[in-house]
Order: sequence, then C-alpha cells, then structure tokens
Amino acid sequence: MVDIIRDTKKIKQIIIHCTDSDEPEHDNIETVREWHISEKKWSDIGYHYFIDKKGKIFPGRPIEKAGAHCIGQNANSIGICVSGRKDFWETQFRALNFLIIDLMRTFNIKRCDIHPHNYYNGAKSCPNFNIEKIWAFDTKK
Ligand SMILES: [Zn+2]
Repeated sequence: MVDIIRDTKKIKQIIIHCTDSDEPEHDNIETVREWHISEKKWSDIGYHYFIDKKGKIFPGRPIEKAGAHCIGQNANSIGICVSGRKDFWETQFRALNFLIIDLMRTFNIKRCDIHPHNYYNGAKSCPNFNIEKIWAFDTKK
C-alpha cells in the first residue's frame, strides 16, 4: 500500500474502532501495528491513535497520511482504536473524550461527524460500545 500525504483540510470525520480483544498481550499499539504490517501487509498501523486499557493515548499512523481502517472513508477521516472487546473502562472513555475534543478543535470536525465503525459497516459490531459514552464525562458542554 502506498503512503499518500493528504491535505489535512480534507479531514471531516472521526471513526472509532476497537481491537476486538481483551487479551492482555494485545493491549498495546505495537501488537496492533504488527498485525497490520505482517498480516495485512500495510506500511504501518491502520489507525491514527490507539488507547490502551489504562486510557493512555498513543499516536499511530501520522495524521498527514490516510489511514486504513474503514473502507471508503479513509481519505477524509481519522481512525481511533480503543483496546478491548467487551471490557472497556471509564478511563478509556475519558481519554477518548480528551482526544476527540482536541481533534474536533484542531480539524474543525463536528460532533455529528464522529462515528462508530459499524455506522459504515453494519456487518461489524466494532467498536462494541455505544459512542455516546464518549460524552458522559464531558463537563465542558
Ligand atoms: Zn473497526
């Protein structure tokens, strides 16, 4: 897959994913990067950010490069992956809230343009949680 540098003004939306695993050994960005590079033969991890079970935010693919996380939507989106399958933690939703608010301000993205992966692919359950949880801790409304 070719790395295409994109005009970040084209970024219009954020798409939320999960790792679909609660295995402790999968709770790190390097494992996900390894899946994408060696199994999918991509140049880098497909997501732009990864949030581990402790709620720590890790940068993935540079934002100037289109991600590989949602068919048909990669050119104009930012992909965030939250570690987990069924077990998600408040600290992760807090981190997601912090990161998303920052990205919304930076790229002028509207709240209505934040979507779960399954909004675009109904065959998937990803990210396995209701993204309204992102706003449950937002005190700045
Ligand atoms: Zn997904």
